Amino acid sequence: MDSEYAFELALCAYLEETREWVLGRQLGASVADPGARIVDVCAVAPGPEFDRRAAITSETIPPRAVESDVGPGRAVDPVAAFDCAPGVARRAADRAVEVGFFEVERRGSRRHVRGTTRYPDWIGRLIGIENKPDLGRPGDLQRQLRRDAALGLFDAVVLVTESYVTRAHLNRIPESVGVWRFVGDEGEGEEPRASGDRPAAGFGDLTVIREPTPLDPTSSGVEPLADHPLRTDVAVVSPEEKASKRRAIAERAYGKGWRPRDYPGCASMCPTADGRPYCAAFDRVVDPRYDCGESCPAFEAADSPAVDHEELRDARTPWVADPDGVTRRQTGLDRFT
Ligand code: SF4
Repeated sequence: MDSEYAFELALCAYLEETREWVLGRQLGASVADPGARIVDVCAVAPGPEFDRRAAITSETIPPRAVESDVGPGRAVDPVAAFDCAPGVARRAADRAVEVGFFEVERRGSRRHVRGTTRYPDWIGRLIGIENKPDLGRPGDLQRQLRRDAALGLFDAVVLVTESYVTRAHLNRIPESVGVWRFVGDEGEGEEPRASGDRPAAGFGDLTVIREPTPLDPTSSGVEPLADHPLRTDVAVVSPEEKASKRRAIAERAYGKGWRPRDYPGCASMCPTADGRPYCAAFDRVVDPRYDCGESCPAFEAADSPAVDHEELRDARTPWVADPDGVTRRQTGLDRFT
Protein backbone atom coordinates (compact mmCIF):
# COMPACT_ATOMS: atom_id res chain seq x y z
CA MET A 1 0.00 0.00 0.00
CA ASP A 2 1.67 3.19 -1.14
CA SER A 3 -0.07 5.98 0.65
CA GLU A 4 -2.22 6.83 3.64
CA TYR A 5 -4.86 8.00 1.21
CA ALA A 6 -5.02 4.68 -0.61
CA PHE A 7 -5.00 2.85 2.72
CA GLU A 8 -7.86 4.96 4.01
CA LEU A 9 -9.99 4.45 0.91
CA ALA A 10 -9.32 0.71 0.92
CA LEU A 11 -10.45 0.60 4.55
CA CYS A 12 -13.60 2.60 3.76
CA ALA A 13 -14.42 0.26 0.87
CA TYR A 14 -13.88 -2.73 3.15
CA LEU A 15 -16.02 -1.33 5.97
CA GLU A 16 -18.76 -0.43 3.53
CA GLU A 17 -18.84 -4.06 2.40
CA THR A 18 -18.70 -5.57 5.86
CA ARG A 19 -20.61 -3.18 8.19
CA GLU A 20 -24.01 -1.48 8.14
CA TRP A 21 -22.35 1.87 8.70
CA VAL A 22 -22.43 5.27 7.03
CA LEU A 23 -18.89 6.56 6.54
CA GLY A 24 -17.43 10.02 6.05
CA ARG A 25 -13.78 11.04 5.70
CA GLN A 26 -11.75 13.92 7.08
CA LEU A 27 -14.23 15.50 9.47
CA GLY A 28 -13.73 18.06 12.24
CA ALA A 29 -13.81 16.35 15.64
CA SER A 30 -12.94 19.07 18.15
CA VAL A 31 -15.44 21.20 20.03
CA ALA A 32 -13.72 24.02 21.91
CA ASP A 33 -11.14 24.64 19.19
CA PRO A 34 -12.91 23.92 15.89
CA GLY A 35 -10.59 22.62 13.20
CA ALA A 36 -7.88 21.55 15.65
CA ARG A 37 -8.66 17.86 15.17
CA ILE A 38 -9.68 16.25 11.91
CA VAL A 39 -10.56 12.58 12.24
CA ASP A 40 -9.69 10.35 9.29
CA VAL A 41 -12.97 8.45 9.17
CA CYS A 42 -16.18 8.82 11.12
CA ALA A 43 -18.56 5.85 11.04
CA VAL A 44 -22.20 6.25 11.99
CA ALA A 45 -23.97 3.11 13.14
CA PRO A 46 -27.69 3.65 12.47
CA GLY A 47 -29.92 4.49 15.44
CA PRO A 48 -33.65 3.77 15.91
CA GLU A 49 -34.93 6.47 13.54
CA PHE A 50 -32.34 6.12 10.82
CA ASP A 51 -35.00 5.44 8.18
CA ARG A 52 -36.77 8.69 9.07
CA ARG A 53 -33.50 10.58 8.68
CA ALA A 54 -32.76 8.91 5.36
CA ALA A 55 -36.24 9.85 4.12
CA ILE A 56 -35.57 13.59 4.53
CA THR A 57 -32.57 14.10 2.28
CA SER A 58 -29.41 12.42 1.03
CA GLU A 59 -27.46 15.55 1.92
CA THR A 60 -26.26 17.15 5.12
CA ILE A 61 -28.99 18.89 7.11
CA PRO A 62 -27.35 22.12 8.31
CA PRO A 63 -26.48 21.64 11.98
CA ARG A 64 -27.53 25.22 12.74
CA ALA A 65 -30.99 24.45 11.43
CA VAL A 66 -31.22 21.40 13.68
CA GLU A 67 -30.15 23.50 16.68
CA SER A 68 -32.54 26.37 15.88
CA ASP A 69 -35.99 27.00 17.37
CA VAL A 70 -37.64 26.25 14.02
CA GLY A 71 -39.94 23.26 14.39
CA PRO A 72 -42.89 21.64 12.65
CA GLY A 73 -45.41 23.86 14.48
CA ARG A 74 -45.83 27.55 13.74
CA ALA A 75 -43.77 29.17 10.97
CA VAL A 76 -41.23 31.64 12.38
CA ASP A 77 -38.80 34.28 11.20
CA PRO A 78 -35.46 32.43 10.84
CA VAL A 79 -33.46 35.40 12.09
CA ALA A 80 -35.31 35.23 15.41
CA ALA A 81 -35.13 31.46 15.63
CA PHE A 82 -31.38 31.03 15.09
CA ASP A 83 -28.73 31.85 17.65
CA CYS A 84 -26.30 33.47 15.21
CA ALA A 85 -25.86 36.50 12.95
CA PRO A 86 -28.84 37.27 10.68
CA GLY A 87 -26.96 36.55 7.46
CA VAL A 88 -25.75 33.20 8.77
CA ALA A 89 -29.27 32.37 9.96
CA ARG A 90 -30.77 33.15 6.56
CA ARG A 91 -28.18 31.07 4.72
CA ALA A 92 -28.67 28.11 7.04
CA ALA A 93 -32.46 28.43 6.71
CA ASP A 94 -32.16 28.60 2.90
CA ARG A 95 -30.06 25.47 2.87
CA ALA A 96 -32.49 23.70 5.20
CA VAL A 97 -35.28 24.57 2.76
CA GLU A 98 -33.23 23.28 -0.19
CA VAL A 99 -32.70 19.91 1.45
CA GLY A 100 -36.33 19.65 2.55
CA PHE A 101 -35.88 20.00 6.31
CA PHE A 102 -37.68 23.37 6.37
CA GLU A 103 -40.51 24.70 4.26
CA VAL A 104 -41.33 28.32 3.55
CA GLU A 105 -44.45 30.20 4.47
CA ARG A 106 -45.07 33.74 3.23
CA ARG A 107 -46.37 36.34 5.67
CA GLY A 108 -46.96 39.29 3.36
CA SER A 109 -43.52 40.29 2.23
CA ARG A 110 -41.89 38.32 5.02
CA ARG A 111 -40.54 34.86 4.61
CA HIS A 112 -41.00 32.51 7.52
CA VAL A 113 -39.92 28.92 7.85
CA ARG A 114 -41.30 25.83 9.48
CA GLY A 115 -39.79 22.40 9.98
CA THR A 116 -41.12 19.70 7.71
CA THR A 117 -40.56 17.12 10.41
CA ARG A 118 -39.07 16.62 13.84
CA TYR A 119 -35.34 15.91 13.71
CA PRO A 120 -35.04 12.14 14.09
CA ASP A 121 -33.05 10.16 16.63
CA TRP A 122 -30.92 8.48 13.97
CA ILE A 123 -27.39 8.35 15.35
CA GLY A 124 -26.73 5.00 16.98
CA ARG A 125 -23.03 4.95 17.65
CA LEU A 126 -20.25 7.16 16.33
CA ILE A 127 -16.91 5.48 15.79
CA GLY A 128 -13.86 7.65 15.24
CA ILE A 129 -11.21 5.92 13.13
CA GLU A 130 -7.61 7.08 12.91
CA ASN A 131 -5.50 5.53 10.17
CA LYS A 132 -1.80 5.10 10.53
CA PRO A 133 -0.65 2.48 8.05
CA ASP A 134 2.97 2.71 9.19
CA LEU A 135 3.43 2.83 12.95
CA GLY A 136 7.12 3.44 12.34
CA ARG A 137 6.11 6.95 11.27
CA PRO A 138 3.57 7.82 13.96
CA GLY A 139 3.67 11.63 13.60
CA ASP A 140 1.25 13.19 16.08
CA LEU A 141 -0.63 9.94 16.62
CA GLN A 142 -0.28 9.64 20.38
CA ARG A 143 -1.44 13.18 21.01
CA GLN A 144 -4.40 12.79 18.67
CA LEU A 145 -5.56 9.60 20.32
CA ARG A 146 -5.09 10.97 23.83
CA ARG A 147 -7.20 13.92 22.81
CA ASP A 148 -9.97 11.72 21.40
CA ALA A 149 -10.00 9.54 24.52
CA ALA A 150 -10.13 12.51 26.90
CA LEU A 151 -12.83 14.35 24.96
CA GLY A 152 -15.10 11.34 24.50
CA LEU A 153 -16.93 12.75 21.50
CA PHE A 154 -17.15 9.32 19.88
CA ASP A 155 -18.64 6.19 21.39
CA ALA A 156 -15.45 4.40 20.45
CA VAL A 157 -12.11 5.27 18.89
CA VAL A 158 -10.07 2.87 16.80
CA LEU A 159 -6.56 3.06 15.38
CA VAL A 160 -6.13 1.15 12.13
CA THR A 161 -2.70 0.19 10.87
CA GLU A 162 -1.02 -2.02 8.34
CA SER A 163 2.01 -2.47 10.60
CA TYR A 164 2.67 -5.46 12.79
CA VAL A 165 1.52 -4.25 16.22
CA THR A 166 3.91 -4.88 19.10
CA ARG A 167 3.32 -4.74 22.84
CA ALA A 168 5.39 -1.54 22.88
CA HIS A 169 3.02 0.04 20.35
CA LEU A 170 0.00 -0.95 22.43
CA ASN A 171 1.54 0.52 25.56
CA ARG A 172 1.89 3.89 23.87
CA ILE A 173 -1.73 4.02 22.73
CA PRO A 174 -4.43 5.06 25.24
CA GLU A 175 -6.08 2.01 26.74
CA SER A 176 -9.57 2.89 25.56
CA VAL A 177 -8.49 3.06 21.91
CA GLY A 178 -9.09 -0.08 19.90
CA VAL A 179 -6.47 -1.34 17.46
CA TRP A 180 -7.16 -3.05 14.14
CA ARG A 181 -4.65 -4.38 11.69
CA PHE A 182 -5.85 -3.99 8.13
CA VAL A 183 -4.23 -5.15 4.95
CA GLY A 184 -6.16 -3.84 2.00
CA ASP A 185 -5.93 -4.18 -1.74
CA GLU A 186 -5.64 -1.63 -4.48
CA GLY A 187 -7.31 -3.49 -7.34
CA GLU A 188 -3.87 -4.18 -8.79
CA GLY A 189 -3.50 -6.09 -11.99
CA GLU A 190 -6.89 -5.25 -13.41
CA GLU A 191 -7.43 -4.21 -16.98
CA PRO A 192 -7.33 -0.48 -17.72
CA ARG A 193 -10.41 1.50 -18.63
CA ALA A 194 -10.01 0.93 -22.36
CA SER A 195 -11.21 -2.62 -21.79
CA GLY A 196 -14.55 -1.30 -20.58
CA ASP A 197 -14.08 -3.09 -17.27
CA ARG A 198 -13.45 -1.61 -13.89
CA PRO A 199 -10.97 -2.92 -11.36
CA ALA A 200 -12.61 -5.07 -8.75
CA ALA A 201 -14.28 -3.81 -5.62
CA GLY A 202 -12.16 -3.72 -2.51
CA PHE A 203 -11.55 -6.51 -0.14
CA GLY A 204 -9.00 -6.90 2.55
CA ASP A 205 -8.09 -8.58 5.75
CA LEU A 206 -8.95 -6.96 9.07
CA THR A 207 -7.74 -8.35 12.40
CA VAL A 208 -8.93 -6.95 15.70
CA ILE A 209 -5.82 -6.64 17.88
CA ARG A 210 -7.66 -4.91 20.70
CA GLU A 211 -11.32 -3.98 21.04
CA PRO A 212 -12.02 -0.32 21.92
CA THR A 213 -13.39 0.44 25.38
CA PRO A 214 -16.67 2.37 25.04
CA LEU A 215 -16.35 6.08 25.82
CA ASP A 216 -19.15 8.12 27.40
CA PRO A 217 -20.33 10.95 25.17
CA THR A 218 -23.09 11.80 27.66
CA SER A 219 -20.63 13.02 30.28
CA SER A 220 -18.34 16.04 30.21
CA GLY A 221 -15.06 15.70 28.36
CA VAL A 222 -11.69 17.42 28.44
CA GLU A 223 -10.29 18.89 25.25
CA PRO A 224 -6.58 19.73 25.24
CA LEU A 225 -5.96 23.14 23.66
CA ALA A 226 -2.30 24.05 23.84
CA ASP A 227 0.80 22.40 25.25
CA HIS A 228 3.26 24.48 27.30
CA PRO A 229 6.51 23.26 28.87
CA LEU A 230 4.92 22.65 32.28
CA ARG A 231 1.22 22.53 31.59
CA THR A 232 -1.47 21.86 28.99
CA ASP A 233 -4.36 24.27 28.54
CA VAL A 234 -7.66 22.43 28.37
CA ALA A 235 -11.34 23.18 27.94
CA VAL A 236 -14.09 21.27 29.69
CA VAL A 237 -16.71 20.32 27.13
CA SER A 238 -20.26 19.77 28.37
CA PRO A 239 -22.50 16.86 27.37
CA GLU A 240 -24.74 19.34 25.51
CA GLU A 241 -21.81 20.67 23.49
CA LYS A 242 -20.79 17.14 22.67
CA ALA A 243 -24.31 16.21 21.61
CA SER A 244 -24.38 19.18 19.28
CA LYS A 245 -21.00 18.29 17.77
CA ARG A 246 -22.03 14.66 17.38
CA ARG A 247 -25.06 15.69 15.34
CA ALA A 248 -22.88 17.96 13.23
CA ILE A 249 -20.24 15.33 12.49
CA ALA A 250 -22.85 12.64 11.81
CA GLU A 251 -24.71 14.97 9.42
CA ARG A 252 -21.47 15.81 7.65
CA ALA A 253 -20.59 12.12 7.32
CA TYR A 254 -24.07 11.38 5.98
CA GLY A 255 -23.86 14.08 3.33
CA LYS A 256 -20.20 13.76 2.39
CA GLY A 257 -19.31 10.07 2.28
CA TRP A 258 -15.76 8.98 1.52
CA ARG A 259 -15.31 8.85 -2.24
CA PRO A 260 -13.48 11.64 -4.06
CA ARG A 261 -15.74 14.35 -5.39
CA ASP A 262 -14.09 14.38 -8.83
CA TYR A 263 -12.00 12.01 -10.92
CA PRO A 264 -9.39 13.44 -13.29
CA GLY A 265 -9.88 13.54 -17.04
CA CYS A 266 -6.88 11.31 -17.71
CA ALA A 267 -6.67 8.20 -19.87
CA SER A 268 -5.08 6.27 -17.00
CA MET A 269 -7.81 7.01 -14.48
CA CYS A 270 -9.66 3.75 -14.08
CA PRO A 271 -11.81 3.85 -10.91
CA THR A 272 -12.32 0.58 -9.08
CA ALA A 273 -15.79 -0.91 -9.01
CA ASP A 274 -16.28 0.57 -5.54
CA GLY A 275 -15.25 4.06 -6.66
CA ARG A 276 -11.60 4.37 -5.63
CA PRO A 277 -9.47 6.43 -8.05
CA TYR A 278 -7.14 3.78 -9.45
CA CYS A 279 -4.43 4.88 -11.87
CA ALA A 280 -3.44 2.28 -14.44
CA ALA A 281 -0.18 4.11 -15.27
CA PHE A 282 1.12 3.91 -11.71
CA ASP A 283 -0.78 0.74 -10.82
CA ARG A 284 -2.22 2.11 -7.60
CA VAL A 285 -4.95 4.24 -6.12
CA VAL A 286 -3.96 7.90 -6.40
CA ASP A 287 -5.27 11.04 -4.75
CA PRO A 288 -6.76 13.14 -7.55
CA ARG A 289 -6.26 16.36 -5.61
CA TYR A 290 -2.51 15.93 -5.25
CA ASP A 291 -1.34 13.34 -7.76
CA CYS A 292 -3.29 14.22 -10.87
CA GLY A 293 -3.24 16.99 -13.44
CA GLU A 294 -1.09 18.19 -16.27
CA SER A 295 1.97 18.29 -14.02
CA CYS A 296 1.83 14.49 -13.75
CA PRO A 297 4.40 13.02 -16.17
CA ALA A 298 1.96 10.30 -17.27
CA PHE A 299 -1.04 12.58 -17.71
CA GLU A 300 -2.93 12.04 -20.94
CA ALA A 301 -6.06 14.12 -21.43
CA ALA A 302 -9.30 12.16 -21.76
CA ASP A 303 -12.90 12.39 -20.60
CA SER A 304 -13.34 12.05 -16.85
CA PRO A 305 -14.66 8.60 -16.00
CA ALA A 306 -18.32 8.47 -15.10
CA VAL A 307 -18.70 7.19 -11.56
CA ASP A 308 -22.18 7.09 -10.09
CA HIS A 309 -21.35 7.79 -6.46
CA GLU A 310 -24.97 7.78 -5.44
CA GLU A 311 -25.72 4.41 -6.96
CA LEU A 312 -22.62 2.88 -5.35
CA ARG A 313 -23.38 4.32 -1.95
CA ASP A 314 -27.06 3.51 -2.04
CA ALA A 315 -26.41 -0.10 -3.02
CA ARG A 316 -23.75 -0.66 -0.36
CA THR A 317 -24.90 1.29 2.71
CA PRO A 318 -28.09 2.29 4.60
CA TRP A 319 -27.76 5.77 3.01
CA VAL A 320 -30.57 6.53 0.54
CA ALA A 321 -29.70 8.36 -2.68
CA ASP A 322 -32.97 9.91 -3.71
CA PRO A 323 -35.55 9.85 -0.94
CA ASP A 324 -39.07 11.12 -1.52
CA GLY A 325 -38.54 13.76 1.15
CA VAL A 326 -41.00 14.84 3.81
CA THR A 327 -41.72 18.35 2.67
CA ARG A 328 -45.32 19.57 2.65
CA ARG A 329 -44.36 22.51 0.46
CA GLN A 330 -46.94 23.58 -2.10
CA THR A 331 -44.88 24.37 -5.14
CA GLY A 332 -45.67 27.78 -6.57
CA LEU A 333 -47.62 29.01 -3.54
CA ASP A 334 -45.10 29.39 -0.83
CA ARG A 335 -41.73 28.91 -2.48
CA PHE A 336 -39.60 31.90 -1.80
CA THR A 337 -37.97 33.73 -4.64
S1 SF4 B 1 -2.86 12.27 -13.91
FE1 SF4 B 1 -1.13 10.87 -13.47
S2 SF4 B 1 -1.65 9.99 -11.50
FE2 SF4 B 1 -3.54 10.90 -12.27
S3 SF4 B 1 -4.57 9.23 -13.34
FE3 SF4 B 1 -3.33 10.32 -14.88
S4 SF4 B 1 -1.41 9.20 -14.95
FE4 SF4 B 1 -2.44 8.59 -13.06
